[in-house]
Amino acid sequence: MIAPNTTPNERVSKPLPMAGAAPDDTAASCHGDLRSSAVAGEVQVNASLKALMDDYPLGAHEQPQGMCPAFGSLRVGLRMRRTATVLSGSACCVYGLTFTSHFYGARRSVGYVPFNSESLVTGQLFEDIKVAMEELADPELYDAIVMTNLCIPTASGVPLDLLPKQINGVRIVGIDVPGFGVPTHAEAKDVLSGAVLRRARLEAEEGPVARPRELIEDRPTVTLLGELFPADPMGVGALLEPMGLAVGATVPSREWRELYAALDCSVVGALHPFYTRAVREFEAAGRPVVGSGPVGVEGTVAWLEAVGRAAGVSSETTGVAVDRARAMVSKALERAPIQGRIQISGYEGSELLVARVLVEAGAEVPYVGTALPRTEWSRDDLAWLEAHGTHVQYRASLEQDIEAFKAVNPDLVVGTTPVVQAAKEAGIPGLYFTNLISARPIFGPAGAGSLGPVLMGAMQGRERLNRMKSFFSGVGHGHTAGYGFTEVPERKLNAQERNAKARGGKAVTGCSTSAPSVSGAGANRDTEARLRTKDRVKQSARAKGSIK
Ligand code: SF4
Repeated sequence: MIAPNTTPNERVSKPLPMAGAAPDDTAASCHGDLRSSAVAGEVQVNASLKALMDDYPLGAHEQPQGMCPAFGSLRVGLRMRRTATVLSGSACCVYGLTFTSHFYGARRSVGYVPFNSESLVTGQLFEDIKVAMEELADPELYDAIVMTNLCIPTASGVPLDLLPKQINGVRIVGIDVPGFGVPTHAEAKDVLSGAVLRRARLEAEEGPVARPRELIEDRPTVTLLGELFPADPMGVGALLEPMGLAVGATVPSREWRELYAALDCSVVGALHPFYTRAVREFEAAGRPVVGSGPVGVEGTVAWLEAVGRAAGVSSETTGVAVDRARAMVSKALERAPIQGRIQISGYEGSELLVARVLVEAGAEVPYVGTALPRTEWSRDDLAWLEAHGTHVQYRASLEQDIEAFKAVNPDLVVGTTPVVQAAKEAGIPGLYFTNLISARPIFGPAGAGSLGPVLMGAMQGRERLNRMKSFFSGVGHGHTAGYGFTEVPERKLNAQERNAKARGGKAVTGCSTSAPSVSGAGANRDTEARLRTKDRVKQSARAKGSIK
């Protein structure tokens, strides 16, 4: 059985016949313990961590199994024009985060406010952060500075909410993104998106704000929530066009003033369903929010109808758009059919949507695992998939995803890196969700036509994968792990054993893991020398009066 979910925000749908899918809580991780202690009431938590615990519920596992969550908010900040991003945390965390951000093409600097034990406990770190903000706040260069507390400053309660709201006209936005408070890097995108939307909403409520570039004024607009493939907003816009609607902005936004355009919409489409804080800001601004997305024929029809209702479009006008979309998506699905059993797992937030497209294209999808929590914005997708025989696992752990493919024996696993690696080792073709699925359109006719060829191509590679599996059989396990070993390696002697050996003692070699037995004259001499040293230490202590 899949490990039972532990919070009301999760759900196990139809159980699969899996064994031993409990997550490995002993696996190395740099986060988790504080949060689980807080949940158990063993430690007091500050208001910021309490809010994170409310907004981002834990799942079957209590530790992130992906990259440092702060990467999500860091990347969103780095993609905003005229926005500086600054981190405060351990140097190793900041190194890892900046390395990853440059690996993904950040092409701009990440600021860092370091600390030591003293500056942390005396409160000097807060003063250091304030000085850094003052030095950086140049209105010629920046609209905003995003200041992020990583794990240790958050756990220590460094109060970013006490920073000035703006310096020299540059907004200061402080966020806490600890690994023990934000379970996935996807949800960290929401932490920042929610924070900047809130600030933009309050500014707009106070008075006139900067005019967004390319503001659409002749039609009501739909704001799309989620980091989308660049062609997807255009494709969704084409679907909405007969209804007299347009795609206005997407969140996460690329510029501060785009936030005003996003808030100025008629309807919000929560295409990625985990933007809890961002949705809260739209609702505070009085904007209706629609879940799911225009995927496959049934998903596209249902989504257009829901958007039409929320935007007050007449049912006749919506019907025209629906008929047009139904014809286009059906044709695209017919042209790119998919046969085979496919398992999906990922942490992007679009896993359920992708599964719907695959099912409509003809694939059997017995299992969908998503690292994200259950929210109402994926409720329709969950119901649809369950009605089509799919088990949906929210907050899926790596262990559950791996047990799933062992249980359902798919022709293809689309998943995260470790899941795909495990599938390939088992001779099952695998495709990386992030690189190969998120890098394609999934909405409307473009989505229906884009996935078939790549997935069918991967499934046809199973025979080749099995040949590779038998060729490499046994390699990479036990003593064959690593490069260059053809035989059982000899255990290296430690310093004590090397000394004993040099003095004529006999040292144990080979693979024995038992304690080394050192014997012989050399070993006896070592023991005698140690005893003499102990006696001397005792004598000296007695002389000083420290022992009687
Ligand atoms: S900031 Fe926290 S979660 Fe991120 S790498 Fe450092 S310790 Fe881990």
